[in-house]
Amino acid sequence: MGWFDKYCEKCGMKVDKKTAPQRFGKYFCSEKHAEEYVSDIDNKGKRSPEQQCGG
Ligand SMILES: [Zn+2]
Repeated sequence: MGWFDKYCEKCGMKVDKKTAPQRFGKYFCSEKHAEEYVSDIDNKGKRSPEQQCGG
């Protein structure tokens, strides 16, 4: 079995679920790409305004 393969969110490379680093439930081929993906989200988060409930 193994038809449900996982791929690196950054470069699309096939990854091994058992050893691949994870961020936000996504798999990555390496820690480097995992960190780049996280910093990517971080940068986008600063640009777009967050919706907050004023209490
Ligand atoms: Zn990658």
